[in-house]
Amino acid sequence: MSLFKNFFIALSNSTYLNETAKKVGPKMGANKVVAGNTIEQLIDTIERLNDLNIAVTVDNLGEFVGTVEEANQAKNEILEVMQAIKDYNVDAHMSVKLSSLGGEFDTELAYNNLREILLKANEFNNMHINIDTEKYDSLQQIVEVLDRLKGEFRNVGTVIQAYLYDAVDLIDKYPNLRLRLVKGAYKEDQQIAYQTKEEIDENYIKIIEKRLLNAKNFTSIATHDDQIINHVKQFVKLHNIDKDQFEFQMLYGFRSELAEEIARQGYHFTIYVPYGNDWFGYFMRRLAERPQNLALAYQEFVSTKTLKQIGLFTSLGLGAAFIISGVTKLIKR
Ligand SMILES: Cc1cc2nc3c(=O)[nH]c(=O)nc-3n(C[C@H](O)[C@H](O)[C@H](O)COP(=O)(O)OP(=O)(O)OC[C@H]3O[C@@H](n4cnc5c(N)ncnc54)[C@H](O)[C@@H]3O)c2cc1C
Repeated sequence: MSLFKNFFIALSNSTYLNETAKKVGPKMGANKVVAGNTIEQLIDTIERLNDLNIAVTVDNLGEFVGTVEEANQAKNEILEVMQAIKDYNVDAHMSVKLSSLGGEFDTELAYNNLREILLKANEFNNMHINIDTEKYDSLQQIVEVLDRLKGEFRNVGTVIQAYLYDAVDLIDKYPNLRLRLVKGAYKEDQQIAYQTKEEIDENYIKIIEKRLLNAKNFTSIATHDDQIINHVKQFVKLHNIDKDQFEFQMLYGFRSELAEEIARQGYHFTIYVPYGNDWFGYFMRRLAERPQNLALAYQEFVSTKTLKQIGLFTSLGLGAAFIISGVTKLIKR
């Protein structure tokens, strides 16, 4: 893993920076990839995407939930968003993280919070509830919670990270669940995860093909990688896999033109829309994935007001990152 990636993953894990950032609202270009922090802004975004024939999965942002009150507050915020989705009759569902429901300190609390969300989702036309995957050390918890809930609810599913050696086993374990397949966004050890892009891409293609051939439920292929997307298009054509069995997904603010083009071609498409105050960790993980994403941050970063608000450590760090990415570009030329 590159220094660059390590640096941004470390920033995303800082409790202090996440707390500071919460107070100042989306900065440094994060507002281009986070759909605001009011329900009205969120619904506007969903309606705009729905008009383009694109559905939405909403992520109510929340990092470092450490108390019962914070976990219950996160659950209540999710219920509020679900109510708004129903009231405004928009095409959207929810992506939730067990950590934001209390999973970091009490699995039972996270389970109960998720169950309450699923009971409400049943009242709302069986709205789909996806459990996002996080760091590897929380995967076993997701599996346990999912195994307890999947008998009771049909509208719950999760995400498989292709960088994990376990990914194929998980695909085999859950043919009946709706699944999202991704490459994987966290820094994982070589004991448990592939490290190079080539290995990860190879395993990603492998699990996508296995899943599409054997699945008994809907599959979301979540990537901005046009080579993978083109491969999937050819694969489904070759194997006569119906377009109603799968969709493509991308993150809000990335490759919008490509997303719209794919939706126009008649493929199901969903955009993952993060929303809320707790934007910093999410935004740092996006910067870690792709140095070019720093372009989102650059203009706002140089404003003195933003530098003051985000604090000295982050300013210096981001400054260093801009320099590193500039030098890297020069070397590559
Ligand atoms: C909807 C969605 C949900 C996700 N949920 C989770 C989750 O629950 N858990 C988790 O661990 N991870 C999740 N991820 C993140 C995922 O694991 C990857 O970290 C992230 O998607 C980056 O990988 P990539 O597949 O987009 O391709 P990359 O390997 O990052 O990029 C491959 C190639 O695609 C092209 N490309 C990529 N981005 C751009 C761009 N912005 N502009 C132009 N070209 C570009 C470039 O050619 C690049 O070389 C999610 C991703 C998406 C899209």
